[in-house]
Amino acid sequence: MNNLNNRLKKALDERKQQHRYRSRRISEGPQQVEMQIDDKDIISFSSNDYLGLANHPQIKQAMIDGVKNYGVGSGAAHLVNGHSRAHHLLEEELAEFTGYPRALLFSTGYMANLGVCQALLDKNDFVFEDRLNHASLIDGGLLSGARFQRYLHNDVSSLQKKLDKAAGTVTDKQHTKLVLTDGVFSMDGDIADLPPLSDLCNKTASWLMVDDAHGFGTLGRTGRGSLQHYSLDHNDVPIYMATLGKAIGTAGAFIAGSDELIETIIQQARTYIYTTAMPAAIAEATRCSLKLIQNETVHLDKLNHNIHYFRKCCDEASLSIENSQTAIQPLLIGDDENAMSISHLLFEQGFLVTAIRPPTVPEGTSRLRITLSAKHQKAHIDKLIETLSSMIETDT
Ligand SMILES: *Cc1c(COP(=O)(O)O)cnc(C)c1O
Repeated sequence: MNNLNNRLKKALDERKQQHRYRSRRISEGPQQVEMQIDDKDIISFSSNDYLGLANHPQIKQAMIDGVKNYGVGSGAAHLVNGHSRAHHLLEEELAEFTGYPRALLFSTGYMANLGVCQALLDKNDFVFEDRLNHASLIDGGLLSGARFQRYLHNDVSSLQKKLDKAAGTVTDKQHTKLVLTDGVFSMDGDIADLPPLSDLCNKTASWLMVDDAHGFGTLGRTGRGSLQHYSLDHNDVPIYMATLGKAIGTAGAFIAGSDELIETIIQQARTYIYTTAMPAAIAEATRCSLKLIQNETVHLDKLNHNIHYFRKCCDEASLSIENSQTAIQPLLIGDDENAMSISHLLFEQGFLVTAIRPPTVPEGTSRLRITLSAKHQKAHIDKLIETLSSMIETDT
């Protein structure tokens, strides 16, 4: 036993030396901009609660009412008796909101991505992924056992080459080709070039799946996500996935698609079949959140206002942020240790900004991942910019 632990310790120590050791901080109270973390008052610039709904009074009340009506645990998987009226209504409302024939709930986005890949692919099939896709899409593709290829980031001609090559290796046309992309790239904040991706997938009879974890609720005029941003619909992107734990402020995820696609996932996806349904109260809270974002555009308007304001301030302070129009605004640092030390210094000054290092991002591209929320006030942003510019100056 000692021997086994010693081996772990050695690997952990190595990781520390590489400045890649990950550790958790303890936060008190709800997710919001001003929080207490590790007993310190901080302003958070690292949440995915982009619309500030995770602690919204109406949504909280909906969850409390949900507990009164449905209890706490759902007690079983959806295919046993865990699929409540609340889950079913939420699926219908998600389908309507996204404009897809059907939607299917999953307990987490990670499981949704694994489930779709496993349901659609086997070892004779092909899966193509953007190099910067989220880990859950990469894992889904790898675990499916299909022939796995990554194309250059947001590069449709790179995908085209891989698709052409794949077509050359098989004679019959029965192989499934699945192309997976983030809608908004989670560590870079840029938006996938969906119109040409969709055209290419149509031309090559490939399925296109968009993981819109960071676009759903935040992009498009009414928050319908990256498809609305480009005026696309379910005919252009046959598989749409989004999570509910980010802008929507609750938990879980869904897949939207055709009736046949959803039924196939229900029959085949092990991460759907063999897991307990999310609590019905979460479905009730999510239904409330979905109504709220459709009735009140102030949240999205405020987020967009903050994005513009933040970028304007960065410009004026000559901070070289990446070219992102979304709530994710990365400040590239490069070196792992440097990124970590700036993040620590910021914490001491009362800001939570996470440093993102390899393997989450490619080598040499360690960065501060600054995320904005509808709940940030001008003063929060001003203070961050002021602090950042003093640090980056003294640093270089
Ligand atoms: C967060 C995220 C997921 C995982 O969703 P969870 O519900 O947190 O498991 C999947 N894809 C992307 C792009 C994400 O950002």
